[in-house]
Amino acid sequence: MNAGTHRPTVLKVDAQAIRQNIKQELGRLKAGSELFAVIKANGYGHGLTHVAKYAAEAGATGFCVAILDEALELREAGFTQPILVLGIVDPQYAQILADQKISVAVGSREWLETANKKLHSGAKVNVHLALDTGMGRIGFQEPAELKTAESYLNEHSNHFLFEGIFTHFATADEVDDHYFETQVARFKQFMAVLTKRPKYVHVANSATSLWHDACTGNMIRFGAATYGINPSGRVIKAPYALQPAMTLSSALVFVKKIKKGRSVSYGATYTAPEDEWVGTVPIGYADGYPRCLQGFHVLVDGQFCEIVGRICMDQLMIRLPKAYAPGTEVVLVGKSGQRQISLVDVAEQAGTINYEIACSFSERIPRVYV
Ligand code: PLP
Repeated sequence: MNAGTHRPTVLKVDAQAIRQNIKQELGRLKAGSELFAVIKANGYGHGLTHVAKYAAEAGATGFCVAILDEALELREAGFTQPILVLGIVDPQYAQILADQKISVAVGSREWLETANKKLHSGAKVNVHLALDTGMGRIGFQEPAELKTAESYLNEHSNHFLFEGIFTHFATADEVDDHYFETQVARFKQFMAVLTKRPKYVHVANSATSLWHDACTGNMIRFGAATYGINPSGRVIKAPYALQPAMTLSSALVFVKKIKKGRSVSYGATYTAPEDEWVGTVPIGYADGYPRCLQGFHVLVDGQFCEIVGRICMDQLMIRLPKAYAPGTEVVLVGKSGQRQISLVDVAEQAGTINYEIACSFSERIPRVYV
């Protein structure tokens, strides 16, 4: 499906905000540390290759993605920087990883054994060993397993480069750091059995880098904060002002006065208590705007306007304070006049987190880079 460029719904991405967030974070890292921008899931909805470009301009030296296809898209677009796939890639694709110089997370010795059989002579895969220190998702669970994997890598250095080692924290965005500290201790136990540290040791996502400077490592995997998304929602203040990069706007396409007692949308769940102006906005749940946001608001001319009636697949209706002409701007995420709707506002109303809202906006909404 192509993006809908013949309707007024657009997602604007502020390149300068992305650059600014990355530069601020780089300024806080200790000398010699690198920042890899995490740009999986279409750059958290902002656009994979555009974000890659802005991140590199700001000083990111590599990228992290979740799946092999995202890495391949970056290579196809001409990005030559290191790329690490954070998720498990089927070892049958080992030769592609080697050919494209794409680094991969590995969490078991079996993965290495299978990949080894798939690799042609002379082909080499860059490996980052994943340590499960408490996230419970992927990675080695015991230092002894790590040791055998390290030995395997050393014995098969014709096919593998042991390039990195990493872990991922489950609670770095929370005020209580008890569980975080148990993961740090576990990480140290793992590191103690290594005979040699690889080039990259990385433990920090945005939250870890923003709020836990005690962490060891020489590279950070900087995701949410790249886009101005606070990993804690509004719970913990970032050490600098994160600049939101995403604005979602549309325009009124139909405006009418409805009589008191008339209903709006599926299920007739909203009935006008008096005569009122209602506008229709061409965005719905097929665009990733959650259906559960009935009763929430958007901004028109600097004023909050309630979403009335059920949100449809492609359209929603709002109550207007007066008649506005079709074509009038409607802001769903961003600023209008003195008022603002943030991703956190939307997320809280929808009962989820800002991350999910950002990466749910569908490809049908064109991204405009400003
Ligand atoms: N590292 C890993 C392994 C991840 O899975 C993620 C994202 O989920 C990140 C880093 C980036 O996290 P954040 O977006 O919170 O910075």
